[in-house]
Amino acid sequence: MTVTVRFAPSPTGRIHIGNARTALFNWLFAVNNKGRFIQRFDDTDIARSKQEFADSILYDLHWLGVFPDVTEYQSRRVEIYDAAVERLKAARVLYACYETPEELDLRRKVRRTRGQPPVYGREALTLTPEQVAEYESDGRRPHWRFLLPNFTSDPLQPERTEVHWNDLVRGEETVDLASLSDPVLLREDGTYLYTLPSVVDDIEMGVTHVIRGDDHVTNTGVQIALFQALGAEPPVFGHHNLLTTVSGEGLSKRTGALSIESLRGDGIEPMAVASLAVLVGTSENVTAAHDLSELARHFDPAATSKSAAKFDPDELFVLNRTLMHHMPFEEARDRLIVLGISGDKAESFWLAVRGNLDRLSDAVAWWRILSDGPQEAAEFSGEDRDFLHQAFDLLPEEPWNGTVWKDWTGKIREATGRKGKPLFMPLRLALTGRSSGPELADLLPLMGREGTLARRP
Ligand code: GLU
Repeated sequence: MTVTVRFAPSPTGRIHIGNARTALFNWLFAVNNKGRFIQRFDDTDIARSKQEFADSILYDLHWLGVFPDVTEYQSRRVEIYDAAVERLKAARVLYACYETPEELDLRRKVRRTRGQPPVYGREALTLTPEQVAEYESDGRRPHWRFLLPNFTSDPLQPERTEVHWNDLVRGEETVDLASLSDPVLLREDGTYLYTLPSVVDDIEMGVTHVIRGDDHVTNTGVQIALFQALGAEPPVFGHHNLLTTVSGEGLSKRTGALSIESLRGDGIEPMAVASLAVLVGTSENVTAAHDLSELARHFDPAATSKSAAKFDPDELFVLNRTLMHHMPFEEARDRLIVLGISGDKAESFWLAVRGNLDRLSDAVAWWRILSDGPQEAAEFSGEDRDFLHQAFDLLPEEPWNGTVWKDWTGKIREATGRKGKPLFMPLRLALTGRSSGPELADLLPLMGREGTLARRP
């Protein structure tokens, strides 16, 4: 059987790094198992779901290197869910309820004061046909609950009923169905909550592995019961830990915090995002993988910790720098052209500066420094100015070879007696306007003799 996974966000905002973790866990699992990846938009909440968010999610996934085999929208599949509803009704495991949210709230409070668990007491099952007719004539419409299989013969007498599965991430898991309320599958306006469409799609689309956040562990107990009620074998489940901010807060699509879009805007490379999103909160070291195939080799769902993983955005910059430092020119070339960096010096320029970049766009400032001179002229003491005049007078004639910097500074040392920082720092400041940066030995040939002399203070 072909391994088939799916990433199923609701398109209600831009995805963040925590969502990317789920997408990538699925993608890498598919890569490692030569499987299929379904992009499924859980957009049954029509009021909050937007096509523009679905489009932006696809864009973000492509940016990360995730290319779904197929894209599906739940809002276009309602007839299939309606058919499943009919099956559940015929099997008498879907029942109509008429309570208002206020009534339910009140009942929960009463149960709590009696020391009972605040689960739904299945009161709707005891309604007489007359009571139902009265609700209907009052204009109430039913919502529909799934009767959890947690009783022997009387649903009003639930008993401990364990659902077990071997979680890809967490190992043996158990949910007691008697500890849960019968879930509402259909709202009174006829729209679907997430629970049923997800199971129906997983069956219909041949999903073999459901990998998602551990906020769904309890749902899984319910959904396994639903798979069985619909006559299907449940898939394998895996629940990964969620990412939180350093202060322990959860991430939300709605706030836009740490969205893939904002990280891209900050100049973070896709592989920095992907490496951190996948490796944080696992027993693997967080290092920057060069591409998703390399990351797939480091990926083992069972190596994921069970507790929440704190995520520090600063780590993205560390990974980004590593990626910059090793990025071959061929990979950077087109992006540099877009930034106005091209021509026969582009490659040696890139190799000279990449080790000093936090992000690729930082190359622009260095390109300007090399072509137009320091952005701000440095201030020098009289002594340093004299030293620099002497130094610039010693600049070797062209043609230059690879040792020009060594030759030049050797001559300066001999003539002035300066060495170490007092020799190099005034030169660096005069040449670049900055006190740190790429090796001057690499920059000097890029400036050429004329360009270098133009920087004489
Ligand atoms: N739409 C659900 C969510 O975003 C999908 C969960 C699942 O993967 O089943 O949480």
